[in-house]
Amino acid sequence: MTVAERLARIRAELAEELAACGRTGGVRLLAVTKKQPVERIAEAIAAGITEIGENYVQEAAAKVALLPPVRTHFIGHLQTNKAKAVAAAFDVVQSVDRPEVAAALAKAADALGKRLDVLLQLNISPTERYGAAPEEAERLAEIVRGHAALRLDGVMAIGPVTGDRAEISRAFALAAKTLARVGGSTLSIGMSGDWREAVRAGSTMLRIGTALFGPRTG
Ligand SMILES: *Cc1c(COP(=O)(O)O)cnc(C)c1O
Repeated sequence: MTVAERLARIRAELAEELAACGRTGGVRLLAVTKKQPVERIAEAIAAGITEIGENYVQEAAAKVALLPPVRTHFIGHLQTNKAKAVAAAFDVVQSVDRPEVAAALAKAADALGKRLDVLLQLNISPTERYGAAPEEAERLAEIVRGHAALRLDGVMAIGPVTGDRAEISRAFALAAKTLARVGGSTLSIGMSGDWREAVRAGSTMLRIGTALFGPRTG
């Protein structure tokens, strides 16, 4: 199957899932392009993808230079020493999970004369290493809002790695509840293996890699 065919299938399945849970839309598809060849990414963009997610700065910069214009989201773990490079290369940073990262990103964005859209990364799963604890999210949100160079627009979370679908749904419900306390319009939950649970929990952005592009290479 081509990338365009996979995208059409995902869009059709998403429309069915939305209808099944009484939603009328409001879900963006972020194509997760890490470890995917640039030709495949170009195919996705030609088929209508407008936003891509990458986990590594250098890999992203090399590929974006070869692609038509797209909105870029950093979705990897962020270290403060990479904040400058990330602020320069990306439009959105989804993985702000501690005050030091917010401060480093704000400083870098300020120096670039740029206002950076950010999401708080929440930890909603025992199988996940990174992310702020949901009970710390409001405090972190306040800190992020204190930086004029950052614009907080919601939360991102990675679901638990488990075959227990109810556990996945519970974790996503916690992310949705936390978004309501943090504020913002983006609930970035759901990947290739758990996007249906995410849509039912209110996801407004699915981060889809392998279901769109096939297995990652390299
Ligand atoms: C790799 C990755 C994805 C995409 O995963 P798939 O299972 O390939 O859809 C989504 N979100 C984050 C944060 C990732 O690192």
